[in-house]
Amino acid sequence: MPLDPSRTVTELKELRELTGDDEGAQRVAWTETWERARDWLRGKVADTGARETIDAAGNQWFTLAGESERAVLIGGHLDSVPSGGWLDGALNVLAGVEILRRVAEEGTPPVSVRLVSWADEEGARFGRSLFGSSAAAGSMSDHDELRQLTDSAGVALPDALAEHGVDLDRALDARTELESAAAYLELHIEQGPVLESLGLPLGAVLGTFGVERHRITWRGQAAHAGSTPMAERRDALAGAAKLALEIREIARRTGGGAVCTSGNVVCRPGIVTSVVETAEQLLDQRDLNPHRLAAMLAEAKAASERFAGEERIEVGWEKIWSIEPILFDETLIGFCDDAIRDVAGSSHRLPSGPLHDAAEVARARIPTVMMFAQSLRGLSHTKLEDTKEEHIELSVSALDRLASKTVDWVAAGGGRS
Ligand SMILES: [Zn+2]
Repeated sequence: MPLDPSRTVTELKELRELTGDDEGAQRVAWTETWERARDWLRGKVADTGARETIDAAGNQWFTLAGESERAVLIGGHLDSVPSGGWLDGALNVLAGVEILRRVAEEGTPPVSVRLVSWADEEGARFGRSLFGSSAAAGSMSDHDELRQLTDSAGVALPDALAEHGVDLDRALDARTELESAAAYLELHIEQGPVLESLGLPLGAVLGTFGVERHRITWRGQAAHAGSTPMAERRDALAGAAKLALEIREIARRTGGGAVCTSGNVVCRPGIVTSVVETAEQLLDQRDLNPHRLAAMLAEAKAASERFAGEERIEVGWEKIWSIEPILFDETLIGFCDDAIRDVAGSSHRLPSGPLHDAAEVARARIPTVMMFAQSLRGLSHTKLEDTKEEHIELSVSALDRLASKTVDWVAAGGGRS
């Protein structure tokens, strides 16, 4: 079948009917509804002649064998958060189906073309995101923690996986799937407001932000709100408040899309009649450049020491989690820009705030790029998530061009050998 981007819109609506309700998409991984979506996908791909396999981590693969085993991969995920949107992950998968159809129509491709629907990208049921892609990438190193995870009903993760034919102890065997991978492509909705604010339908993604997450504890002295003169106070909240404002300046000075968030401050004793003795503050900092990210963290730490001095309080830092920025492949970013310009006139390069399966594949040193389609109002993980149908169709056409450029590149010896 030749490429028909409007069919992607029709199929996305069909999937929404089949696996959603009034509250949104209900395709949480390792549930019956998710399995129903996978079954439905199987039926959609059948006509292309692509061979289906499910790997040791539960990822669903469809392979159109080429003259060479080296493969161009197109990825997405069918699982959603509870009451999620109709496009997050599913657009990628269904655009990939359309490309399989076009490639199959043209006969045996010079290199293999594989569509992968990753298992449990969202981590909605057990709180562990990127399950299938991290297994395939070989970066899954938290087996002992995974074994302990339970869902809200008390079901253990290994038991839920077993119901879907996945043995947690063998999940890393999925690594063999990436042995022949030469390049990886992923289309995704932006899930943010940048492309809409620029009036552009599509963008080429440079990589995913590195993240520094820290817990900052400020310690002062509880004292009576009535009897303690202002000059005598050692107010822990004053430090947290100054820092909450300062990180906005740090992000602004850093520029280039850097973001800093103080997501919470918990005060004790937390009563109206006492000066705050301890304030526990959460900080999240993100940037695409590792040096700028490290500098933002250092600036925030230095500012906190200064504020502690000014307020005569103590401050302590504890790392919660961090990940380095993951950069996509320069050549593929160029192809992505070209493909977008071909179908939409102009392109824009932007970083991704959220992590995606593509980040796991890129960490496995497979040349990777993502393409973003404009999100309306920047909303995602809600039934309000939406993208104009004409932009969905443009994204399918652009991904198809990107795929065909990438196949030619890999056939000519490009990509990971
Ligand atoms: Zn997603």
